[in-house]
Amino acid sequence: MAHPQHEQVRQRYSFRCGYCGVSEADSGGRLTVDHYHPVSQGGGESEDNLVYACIKCNQFKGDFIPHADDQRNERRVLHPLIDPIGQHVQLEPGKGRLKSLTRTGRFHIDLLQLNRPELVKHRLQRQERRLLKRQLDSLIDKVGSLTSTITALELEVERLKRIHGQ
Ligand SMILES: [Zn+2]
Repeated sequence: MAHPQHEQVRQRYSFRCGYCGVSEADSGGRLTVDHYHPVSQGGGESEDNLVYACIKCNQFKGDFIPHADDQRNERRVLHPLIDPIGQHVQLEPGKGRLKSLTRTGRFHIDLLQLNRPELVKHRLQRQERRLLKRQLDSLIDKVGSLTSTITALELEVERLKRIHGQ
């Protein structure tokens, strides 16, 4: 059964998995509601404890909760809306892989398996689509500018024909 706040959560996360960024459209269906702090460990239903998550991220995260030893070693899951993710994790340009910048980042990537082959492939495809879109936009601009040049030249030809009485 869907979580009672499913709709609010999916809107708050713009229909994407808070952990890996995959969208509903990419995955072909609605995602799940994850309890950042697991219910089995006393987590509640407050807005900040509910993360929109794809099935894989939700599974890999499981019921993990940092214990004293983890806390000492900065091992925890990053909260998509509360933690400054970019300070812990960075996308390697052209490789589609996430690189950790901190110990927490490394743990986060490993636990959620954020470099799983399907995700890396997905990131590379997304990157390629963006690149193709930019190339297409630039070609459309060029066609527009060439069309204006052709129109101007045609007018010039007409003008010259009139002058020469043709
Ligand atoms: Zn995910």
